[in-house]
Amino acid sequence: MKTCVIIRYSEIFLKGNNRGFFERTFEENMVSALRGLSYTWEKQEGRYLVEDYAEEDVDEILSRLEKVFGVHTLSVAFKVSSDMDDIFSAALLVCEDEGSFKVMTHRADKKYPLTSMEISAEIGAKILDMRHNLRVDVHNPDFLINIDVRDSVTSLVFGKFIKGPGGMPVGTTGKGLLLLSGGIDSPVAGKMIAKRGMKVNCVHFHSYPYTNLQAKDKVIRLAKKLSPYTSGLTLYIVKVTKIQEEIHKKCDGDYMVALLRRFMVRIGEKLSQWCGAQCLITGESLGQVASQTIEGMTSTGDATSLQILRPLVGFDKNEIIDLAKEMETYDISIEPYEDCCTVFLPRHPVIHPALLDVLREEKKLDVDALVEEAISDVEKIEF
Ligand code: ATP
Ligand code: MG
Repeated sequence: MKTCVIIRYSEIFLKGNNRGFFERTFEENMVSALRGLSYTWEKQEGRYLVEDYAEEDVDEILSRLEKVFGVHTLSVAFKVSSDMDDIFSAALLVCEDEGSFKVMTHRADKKYPLTSMEISAEIGAKILDMRHNLRVDVHNPDFLINIDVRDSVTSLVFGKFIKGPGGMPVGTTGKGLLLLSGGIDSPVAGKMIAKRGMKVNCVHFHSYPYTNLQAKDKVIRLAKKLSPYTSGLTLYIVKVTKIQEEIHKKCDGDYMVALLRRFMVRIGEKLSQWCGAQCLITGESLGQVASQTIEGMTSTGDATSLQILRPLVGFDKNEIIDLAKEMETYDISIEPYEDCCTVFLPRHPVIHPALLDVLREEKKLDVDALVEEAISDVEKIEF
């Protein structure tokens, strides 16, 4: 029996005049998620139907759609004729082995000879006749049998509603640039912002040869894990070796992290102009490590005129780890390769860097020249 996938989207974001824009963006993301698979799709009232795929692809289709923000629920439905015998055969396939059930019928075709109630009653009775270990419970059933009579020739029969990721379609609320380290936090931050409908690109900073090539490969794999949630992304890879060497040579080493962070957001701002990003995104969480104090964040924020979104600011590490496991980045993130922030790490990094002190140290550097040099050689990878 042929199946199709029903995609229901969250209606909340469709309020107002933007409906067309939201729906088009959602459709583009859906099509992009299913790239490489053969199928057809059709828009219906409040939902989409994906059909005509190879049956063995259905799990792959579901797992890709489960990462498309805006998807509210998904169902795999049997697509049958509207003949009652065919509907009944499909209903039997939806039945669980035991427990109570309820048949729910929706009839788009009001000319169909039976009413919704009559269809539900007839199918329910036939199931009870055939499957003596099942019973009907209309108030608190163990499982549902949903029948959707689309027209006189086609009906859909399905059981489960698979929960989608919710959120808003990526690309409907602007564009941001995520500072993607090799750590646990930043991929999670990227996914959270994408869920709010923002298109996310990434920048990673490395200090080759102080950091090795495996560290870079790790970030590429993290970006690849993030990209289904962001409907594709561009990863910029920027070398900050020279910047760190200069800081090491000329400044009070205790300010290494504070100074480097300011360079990161400056370079991030330049790259944002290239890719049309309107803000920066980081995985910072208040108080998590020495540099993530309010003073540290103030010092970093002072170096850019862009807004810095920090979606994890109020999260505990354990909560972030759970989210990282959910999106399957955790195992990659804990691979033990050095990040540029740990290169030249001072023994006593300043925990509450006063902006004035940071600026005093920064005066010892030719900031503009260092930024220009760093962005003169940017590697760009598309996912
Ligand atoms: P993460 O797990 O995301 O690395 P962390 O707890 O290790 O976070 P930090 O190393 O202090 O925290 O970094 C804070 C934030 O700064 C990161 O979440 C990331 O957004 C950004 N960042 C740090 N290092 C880099 C880097 N090498 N490249 C790009 N962004 C970085
Ligand atoms: Mg880190």
